[in-house]
Amino acid sequence: MNTLTERLHQIRAQITKSESHYQRPAGSVKLLAVSKTRPITDIEEALAAGQMDFAENYLQDALPKITALIDKTICWHFIGPLQSNKTRAIAENFHWVHSVDRLKIAQRLSEQRPEHLPPLNICLQVNISLDPAKAGVKAEETLQLAHKIQKLPHIKLRGLMGLPTKANDPKQQRIPFCALKTLLENLQQQGMELDTLSMGMSDDMDAAIAEGATIVRIGTAIFGSRAQNNNA
Ligand SMILES: *Cc1c(COP(=O)(O)O)cnc(C)c1O
Repeated sequence: MNTLTERLHQIRAQITKSESHYQRPAGSVKLLAVSKTRPITDIEEALAAGQMDFAENYLQDALPKITALIDKTICWHFIGPLQSNKTRAIAENFHWVHSVDRLKIAQRLSEQRPEHLPPLNICLQVNISLDPAKAGVKAEETLQLAHKIQKLPHIKLRGLMGLPTKANDPKQQRIPFCALKTLLENLQQQGMELDTLSMGMSDDMDAAIAEGATIVRIGTAIFGSRAQNNNA
C-alpha cells in the first residue's frame, strides 16, 4: 500500500506527464486536493508534502478543519452544493467557490464577503452533461449569468467548473470537457478576463488536462477510497 505522500507525488507526476503530452505549459494545471470526509491528520500529511489547495463539499465538516488549521497557509475551496443559509460562513472562511450556479447565491456571497478580505474567487458550475440530476447553470444561460455576476463588487469571477456524468472511455470523457472549454472561450471573446477551467477528477484527470483544465479536483487518488465513509 502506498502512503498518502507517495500517492500525492504520483498524481503530481501524472499531471506533469499530461501537461507535456498535450503541449500544455509546465505548471499550468493546479492540483486541488479534495479532502471532504477526510480527517485533519490526512490534510496535515498532504500539507507536509507541499500541498496547499484543499477542497471541501460540506460546510459543517469543513469549518472544524479550517479552524484547526488556521495557522497554516492553506487555500480553501468550496466545491459542494450551495444553500442560501450557508453563504455567510462560506464567504468568511473560503478563498474560492466553484459551485455557483445562480445569481442570488452570488449576490449573497458578495454582500457577505468581509471587507478586509480580497474578493472571493468564483467559478460558475455549468451542467455540461445536460443531466437533470446534476447541479449547474445551463450552457446557454451561462453568458447572461456571467455578465451579472461580473458586476458584483466583492467576488471575482475566474471561470467555469464542470462535473460531467461519469464515463469510462477517455474519448467520451473529453466531450463535455471540450464543451466547457468552448464555453469559456466564448466568454473570453465577450471581453471577460477569465483564467480558470475547474474540471477533472480521479478517473478523468488526463482527459480534462487534454481539454485545457487549469484546476483538477482530486480526492480518491490522493486520499484513497471513500467507500468506507457514508457519504461521497
Ligand atoms: C468528490 C468530488 C471530487 C473528487 O472526486 P474523486 O473522484 O474522489 O477524485 C471532485 N469534485 C467534486 C465536485 C466532488 O464532489
